[in-house]
Amino acid sequence: MRNKFYSGFITFIGKPNVGKSTLMNYLVGEKIAIISNKPQTTRNKITTILTKDDYQAVFIDTPGIHKPKSKLGNYMVKSAENSLNEVDVILMLVEPSERVWEMDKYVINKLKNIKTPVILVINKIDTIDKENIFNVINVYKELYNFVEFVPVSAIKGENTDELLSVIKKYLPEGPKYFPEDMITDQPEKQISSEIIREKALRLLQDEIPHGIAVEIMSMKKRDSKEIVDIEAVIYCEKDSHKGIIIGKKGNMLKKIGTYSRQDIQNLLGSQINLQIWVKVKKDWRDSDFLLKNFGYDSKKI
Ligand code: GDP
Ligand code: MG
Repeated sequence: MRNKFYSGFITFIGKPNVGKSTLMNYLVGEKIAIISNKPQTTRNKITTILTKDDYQAVFIDTPGIHKPKSKLGNYMVKSAENSLNEVDVILMLVEPSERVWEMDKYVINKLKNIKTPVILVINKIDTIDKENIFNVINVYKELYNFVEFVPVSAIKGENTDELLSVIKKYLPEGPKYFPEDMITDQPEKQISSEIIREKALRLLQDEIPHGIAVEIMSMKKRDSKEIVDIEAVIYCEKDSHKGIIIGKKGNMLKKIGTYSRQDIQNLLGSQINLQIWVKVKKDWRDSDFLLKNFGYDSKKI
């Protein structure tokens, strides 16, 4: 007799920086989502897939729900909210604290009209005394009818197996949506541009808050050799930002290129030749044209 197979879609919600991307990467065992100590670095939905003998979990890492401040912000919020009704399980991540952030209240409020089961995941338990976990659970119990409470450390992988078995309980019987060796549905171009953006944001620290976008202009494998030529553009909002991104004697841009090249090589499994240009596009975050150009089309979500 064939055993039953379970499958479904799981999404992450919670305030920026709570560890959604870190947890998704840990569960799937690969570095796909972009992790950063800057909030809101995950712009597009990133899907990763975990296939076991008797189930397949498809994780959607959303940009997170927050109050929008620009067109891009609007897109991100809509995309996050829409996904809540489409999925089988919602993981709401919170900090391991009895203090409930305004952002968490805002998110919980959004859940009021949602029928999907919501599991409360208390992340970063490596940073607190274990006896405090119960107090955190008690605070959140009052706020919403969560189906389960699971404390984890996404960074250390503490209790993540327990989380997987809890998730599995809520997956319906279903097919293998994706082949079992596939871990992400993201086109290589998109992941490459996210890698460059992540490196730039990290290296530039706080100097250019959210003001960059990265576009891959071309990605071509050379006929004769195992080399992929990639041309990318970093867009920023101001001339002064352009100067910072390029750096003294081009040093900053060189660094961004070097770090990015290593990760993209790992991703593609071949040598790459990466060229990056920096261009100024004023107000790109409020431009419909550019948002579409970067793949953030609000009609498509
Ligand atoms: P997201 O904005 O919710 O996707 O958050 P990220 O996954 O990008 O993580 C934000 C920051 O929190 C990063 O610096 C992570 O290294 C850190 N972080 C994530 N999970 C944990 C955890 O379990 N413990 C600790 N100490 N830090 C974590
Ligand atoms: Mg993230």
